[in-house]
Amino acid sequence: MAALLLTGGRVVDPANRLDAQTDLLISDGKIAAVGADAAKKAPRDAEKMAVNGLVVCPGLIDLHVHLREPGQTSKESLATGTAAAARGGFTSVVCMPNTSPAIDTAGTVALIRERAAQQGVVNVFVAGAISKGIAGEELAPIGGLKRAGVVAITDDGHCVQNNELMRRACEYAKMFNLPVMDHCQDYSLVTDGVMHEGYWSTVLGLRGWPSAGEEVIVARNILLAELTGAKVHCQHLSAAGSVALLREARKRGVPISGEACPHHFTLTDAAVAGSKKFWATDGKSLLIINHQQSTINWPSYDTNFKMNPPLRSARDREAILEGLADGTIEILCSDHAPHCDYEKEVEFDYAPFGITGLETELSLSLMQLVHTKRLSLAATLAKFTVHPARLLDLNKGTLQVGADADVTVIDPDHEWIFHRDDSASKSRNSPFFGWQLKGKAAATIVGGKLVWSERAESVAA
Ligand SMILES: [Zn+2]
Repeated sequence: MAALLLTGGRVVDPANRLDAQTDLLISDGKIAAVGADAAKKAPRDAEKMAVNGLVVCPGLIDLHVHLREPGQTSKESLATGTAAAARGGFTSVVCMPNTSPAIDTAGTVALIRERAAQQGVVNVFVAGAISKGIAGEELAPIGGLKRAGVVAITDDGHCVQNNELMRRACEYAKMFNLPVMDHCQDYSLVTDGVMHEGYWSTVLGLRGWPSAGEEVIVARNILLAELTGAKVHCQHLSAAGSVALLREARKRGVPISGEACPHHFTLTDAAVAGSKKFWATDGKSLLIINHQQSTINWPSYDTNFKMNPPLRSARDREAILEGLADGTIEILCSDHAPHCDYEKEVEFDYAPFGITGLETELSLSLMQLVHTKRLSLAATLAKFTVHPARLLDLNKGTLQVGADADVTVIDPDHEWIFHRDDSASKSRNSPFFGWQLKGKAAATIVGGKLVWSERAESVAA
């Protein structure tokens, strides 16, 4: 495909403050023109795609994804994980290093980049580990990882407990211009908690994971970002206190940032008590968006509602939404964490943490932020495009002429049901099967190439 002209769409490019109904021309894998003259500049043989009524935006970026390679391909692979990303509207993902072995050497980074280039359908960027083997004891070779191409370092899934080691990680990362991303969890406070510590953990008799277990580390990270000047990014924030700490620190100009995942601002810990309890209490506010949801049932102790950090109270959920609305939290992501059925089909205590998310995160974000009028479409899309690109220093997330032609076409009003059989992921551990969702990617274009489209899908089916 040499040239592709998208006509009549609402082009929303937060990086360039553009929001207008106009045309977009892609040529040789790059953005060639945006605006009224795009059609004039198109070569005669350019392929045309009419996107009237749809949104055209920079390709979405998810900077928090577990692709499970190397070593855990029964859960996911680069091929299936990136296929799920394409279906969800994502043109770039950042894979987490808690694989087997961990991504803590230049050799492993090279291996993933090579395999991703061969098997991936979207761009895969690699995050390297902070510590060797993600053991939190000794720093990984951060300079070598940077030379091998990592875009950030993190021990995600784990959290460096030793503050002095974390300080040194920040100092090295700053030297190599890498952001430090952190899964904020204080082990001494959380111990073996499996759900949010509160009313429902008491009722259900499950061990609690208190909000303070996250907030203590967010506070630590703010202090270390201030001390070292390194860019520190707090992953998957779940607690109201974390948002308050971040808001205050960012006001002072501390180089700290945060991200939120749709499950934390859609669900609450009441979901662990089963659908009846959830819809009767915290789920009520979701029924305003869609009254049909109340027919979706799940039992108590359903392990698809077990994640780390855990689903929290309705107050925490509201605080995360407020943080997203006022710009305190400037990045949205999925924490896509695939697990096999047999791993999840055990008692709540023994199941692994995590859910898949690439195929539902855009819809849930649009529902909770845009359709509820908490945030504009452009401001929401900025959290999937220009903001993550800026944090990671990626030459992505923009429709600037000359940029890589990574483009997502979205139908924000498309109502659909997420069916178990429709997922491209190798795993099925999502709590959102059967949910009626509003808003969906209609086409995903990577480097000028159409890698997924709703229309092609329905023609094929
Ligand atoms: Zn994590």
